Amino acid sequence: MPDTATDSSQPDYRLIDAPQSARFLVSDLLVCLESYLEPQQIRDVYRAYLFGAEAHEGQKRLSGEPYIYHPVAVARILAGLRLDHKCLMAAILHDVIEDTETQKEQLEKLFDAEIAELVDGVSKLTHLKFSSHEEAQAANFRKMMLAMAKDVRVIIIKLADRLHNMRTLGVMRPEKSRRIARETLEIYAPIANRLGINTIRMELEELSFAAYWPMRFRILSQAVKTARGNRNELINKIEKAVNRRLTQEDLAGEVMGREKRLYSIYRKMRSKKLPFSEIADVYAFRIVVENVDACYRVLGVMHNLYKPVPGHFKDYIAIPKSNGYQSLHTVLFGPHGMPVEIQIRTRAMNTMAETGIAAHWLYKSDTVECQQPAAEWLQSLLEMQKNAGDSMEFLEHVKVDLFSDEVYLFTPKGRIMVLPKGSSLVDFAYAVHSDVGNHCVMARVDHHLLPLKTRPYSGQTVEIITSEQAQPHLSWLNFVVTGKARSAIRAHLKQLKRREAVILGERMLNRELESWGVTLQQLEKPLLQHLLDEYKLRAIDDLLVEIGLGNRMALLVARWLMADKEEGELPEVKERHKEPLLLKGTEGMVVRFAKCCRPIPGDGITGVFSRGSGLVVHRQGCPNLGDFHKNAENWIDVQWEKDLDAEFKTALRVDVGNRRGVLATVAAAISAQESNIENVFVEERDGVSSSIDFLVTVRDRQHLAKLIRAIKALPSVIRVQRNKG
Ligand code: MN
Repeated sequence: MPDTATDSSQPDYRLIDAPQSARFLVSDLLVCLESYLEPQQIRDVYRAYLFGAEAHEGQKRLSGEPYIYHPVAVARILAGLRLDHKCLMAAILHDVIEDTETQKEQLEKLFDAEIAELVDGVSKLTHLKFSSHEEAQAANFRKMMLAMAKDVRVIIIKLADRLHNMRTLGVMRPEKSRRIARETLEIYAPIANRLGINTIRMELEELSFAAYWPMRFRILSQAVKTARGNRNELINKIEKAVNRRLTQEDLAGEVMGREKRLYSIYRKMRSKKLPFSEIADVYAFRIVVENVDACYRVLGVMHNLYKPVPGHFKDYIAIPKSNGYQSLHTVLFGPHGMPVEIQIRTRAMNTMAETGIAAHWLYKSDTVECQQPAAEWLQSLLEMQKNAGDSMEFLEHVKVDLFSDEVYLFTPKGRIMVLPKGSSLVDFAYAVHSDVGNHCVMARVDHHLLPLKTRPYSGQTVEIITSEQAQPHLSWLNFVVTGKARSAIRAHLKQLKRREAVILGERMLNRELESWGVTLQQLEKPLLQHLLDEYKLRAIDDLLVEIGLGNRMALLVARWLMADKEEGELPEVKERHKEPLLLKGTEGMVVRFAKCCRPIPGDGITGVFSRGSGLVVHRQGCPNLGDFHKNAENWIDVQWEKDLDAEFKTALRVDVGNRRGVLATVAAAISAQESNIENVFVEERDGVSSSIDFLVTVRDRQHLAKLIRAIKALPSVIRVQRNKG
């Protein structure tokens, strides 16, 4: 493996310590593990290594070295963060599902479900490809990665994987290096930042900077070297002064010179439009002390040593950054007015600043005393862990805290759509475009055809299949979650209802006009206009909707229209010699079948207009019809059309003896008669018998009779009845 530290085009700034030459050796890894893991755990890690080495046997990296060097190096990075042994095992195995014959189930058997899940999670992230250069899309892609990982460690392994790939980027073709470097800056470094893992974040940034802008990197690093050389004496003088002062005040603290990272200098130069001299000329150091009290005392001492620059003091101890970072920051006027940046923090805060969320696994081990955890959030998480008492539950909490309540999906073209968690494919379709939503029929999710109510997972690619004839369905309202889908479906259904109401209204009006031997089409325009003016309506359709929805009676409208023509010969309201209205059962939303009695073809039926919602059809004799016959204007004669081709719902009550499997037997008998069961409700009356209510579909009374006979023939059935309402 080429030791990249000697390569001048690579930064020599290493944040995770290990001898360069040994980073990929399992022996080095095991030595590192001895400092914090149990012997049995180290043996397990070694077992994972043996399996991984065999699985990757014969594979080589682009650089020519054996493939297994890479996963071992990844595990070594994580060992530097003191992660638990399962995470290290998963790190060593992280490419076996992706790059070898190994199956997830095999890992589950050989190791355990937790390790198999971690490896599987990393493999899934490996599949994600990010292509867009838009900033908003990058942000969504990051969230998608977080949302996809069921376990934070999956993300941490992925970060370490990327870090090692960045360290060995030199062997790639320049344009590929640039692409990977850019992706690292846009996706991985910000995720590391969000998780507070600054060691990884900073190294990713430095390596990406070097690979993406090699020239700028070289020039800047030369400039920094020169500046440092010129200032060396002064810097030593300041450091001595600081140390002397701490000793005088009897404050034990470790003073560390801080290397200014090239990428952060570069970023500041760009964003603040400052020349190099004004940024790199700043000397920075860090003072690490024992406790919070000492932090503030050291701050006081420093402000006494050199004057503070106004407006630069920041107290991230009292108010931590959102990724858990805590520290005091101040800037002083050093000798000759040279600005001196100082960070003051406790040891625990320092660990937190370097390892972020990974510090959780550090604090978990009993050997490290749990001092005040640096971040407010980590503290609250640790509290939760104490209460939960179980590591898995703890990780669930972490997930809830970190990962958003959103689902991130790809369109076939690679655009990322963000939807609320629990969104269905219909929500996705409407998010793409309302036309797509209005005409969707099903969807291809990662190449599998799935029904519209499916709720996809983050990271899946969704392609909506549409059809010209398709229309939104009322039942979609039961599973859509986005406001956009909901209102679009409602609006469409309203349109549909209006269209259906026009058709019904016209049928109703023509049925009345028949008494005079005319149809609506034959009436003269001025007459109709006169009527519209009188009723304060704009168009004939509006009038028909009024009739269709039951807000206006067709008979009265017809009388108004015919008033001039045959004065004195108006048919009486109660004279009902007209043809009944014929129903197909597919009229849609303006003709509904009453749920109380559930009429089916063959039943004698009566239609009742209910204001605003159209016609409701009951069975004759349904008790809910009550005394509506007295209000004769509201009801109309309806009849079934001949030769219907539709399914109707009806309710059956089946009394059965309590026997094992009786419900299944009855259900099977219903299916055998080509009837669908829409709903079942079982009511146990005593130990001996039960009543089962079925909502089934039938074509007509004949079909129903056959069905009832079939059920009655079953041995455990006592009685079958159609519910009357
Ligand atoms: Mn890898």
